[in-house]
Amino acid sequence: MTPGAATQRNLLRVFRAIDGAGEITQSDLVDASGLATGAVSALLGRLIDTGLVEAESLRPGGRGRPQRLLRLADARTAVAAAQINGTSIVIHARSLNGAEVARATVAVDDRAIASVSATIRDGLASLLGGDPGERLLSTVVAFPGIEDSGSLRSMEMRWEAEPVDTLRGDLAHALRTEVQVENDGQLATLAEWTAQTAPKVDNVAVVLIEAGIGGGIVAGGHLLQQPPSWPGLGHAPVVRDGVRCPCGNRGCLETVASLAAIAAGAGAPSWSPPAEGTAGVVEKIVVRAADGDPDLLRGLDRAAVGLGALADTAAALIGTERIILTGTGARLTPWLTPEVVSGRASAVTRGTYGADAVIEGALLRAHTLGLSAAIARAASAD
Ligand SMILES: [Zn+2]
Repeated sequence: MTPGAATQRNLLRVFRAIDGAGEITQSDLVDASGLATGAVSALLGRLIDTGLVEAESLRPGGRGRPQRLLRLADARTAVAAAQINGTSIVIHARSLNGAEVARATVAVDDRAIASVSATIRDGLASLLGGDPGERLLSTVVAFPGIEDSGSLRSMEMRWEAEPVDTLRGDLAHALRTEVQVENDGQLATLAEWTAQTAPKVDNVAVVLIEAGIGGGIVAGGHLLQQPPSWPGLGHAPVVRDGVRCPCGNRGCLETVASLAAIAAGAGAPSWSPPAEGTAGVVEKIVVRAADGDPDLLRGLDRAAVGLGALADTAAALIGTERIILTGTGARLTPWLTPEVVSGRASAVTRGTYGADAVIEGALLRAHTLGLSAAIARAASAD
């Protein structure tokens, strides 16, 4: 191992110990890191010099050397996430230690990728003030589509083959951070899988219910990477000879369980998102379902049967133990669990984050990237 790699590994130990503790005295940090006192002092010197860690002198309570209290510097350790859809962009910045920094939602007037990139850049500048690159360690952008050989495709954004670097490269240059662009369903899956309540399982499918259906699969504790050819969970066939889907097939999950399908099935095409926003659509569905509207309840039953079919197929195919519903439509879980219609036990449950699943997943990813960026920055400082 080169000296550089050893330094990076030890920096990571010290940094993680501070990150995990919130605040920690230098002597407790020596214990927590398992490193020698002198080594911890030297590593702390790098972290403080690069502005990543703050040290506060504590008044000595008795004999002995004065103590220092250490914490991550909020001002220099922010990570950012942006969630794009056809109508709005959510921008959220958090400190590496989890403290809230800023959050905003801005409208999308122009879906062109260069315009979306500029909106994220300007949004971060306005939220973080001045030069956001001074504060940011990493940025993750969640989008409703797939990356294929350096091009982004998204039906919702009307991107057919946009160069990813219009987003990733331009933002990385403007923000001077690493920028990652990733499918929104994958990030929602990461968030919900990580946040599972006990007993946690390592084989889950996460169904993101919005205007359409997205999601992802964790098998054996690994988030499966989606190949560009993957049609997505929304296009799992769940109804034989069902309704024609925009993808060309019939009976896809999206044709029965998306918010657009549930709303349209209740004879209310005017509810179709995004005219009202998905949260407004869900609110109307909840009110009418609680009133016992028969058309709407039949639509919700069709969605529940479709989710049950997905659960059965995924269990048989790859041993999926739990289907987690998330996104704005997760509020409908009481009507969407298959036992409601079939009377048999199922493993369809409501996730933790609902409408915030994608942005939480993006922040989780940004945290991992930010930690690596912080260590690299401190290791290269002299
Ligand atoms: Zn389809």
